[in-house]
Amino acid sequence: MKIRVHQVPAEGLTEQRRYDPEEMDLARFDVHPTDPIALSCFIAKADRELIVQATLRYGLQMACAKCLETFVSPMTTAATLNYHVAPTDVVDITDDLRQEIILSYPMIPVCQPDCRGLCVRCGQNRNHGLCSCVE
Ligand SMILES: [Zn+2]
Ligand SMILES: [Zn+2]
Repeated sequence: MKIRVHQVPAEGLTEQRRYDPEEMDLARFDVHPTDPIALSCFIAKADRELIVQATLRYGLQMACAKCLETFVSPMTTAATLNYHVAPTDVVDITDDLRQEIILSYPMIPVCQPDCRGLCVRCGQNRNHGLCSCVE
């Protein structure tokens, strides 16, 4: 989203946007944001500063590192972005939003805190029941 500094009124501005995750180039091999990414933000300016309070809502479709099942986790990310600006500037916040979303990705996605993973012998998903292999 591009913000024209001179169009931001003294009392600030509220904006809503929807982003297509494909457009934002967000996919990691094991993490795919679901469509759409919803942004709501409050934009304010003070002197030579532009302040954007952004809230992003989206889902992350991930593959569990333990059991390999795909699951979707709803996410809410809030960020305050600050820019030093001149009155004639146009500020593109898209790349900073992209960074905030990528920072929210878990290092190791797990479908549930106590995921039991797969049996190393037969490959059975142990969340669905125990197999007959002897440990
Ligand atoms: Zn799992
Ligand atoms: Zn087994």
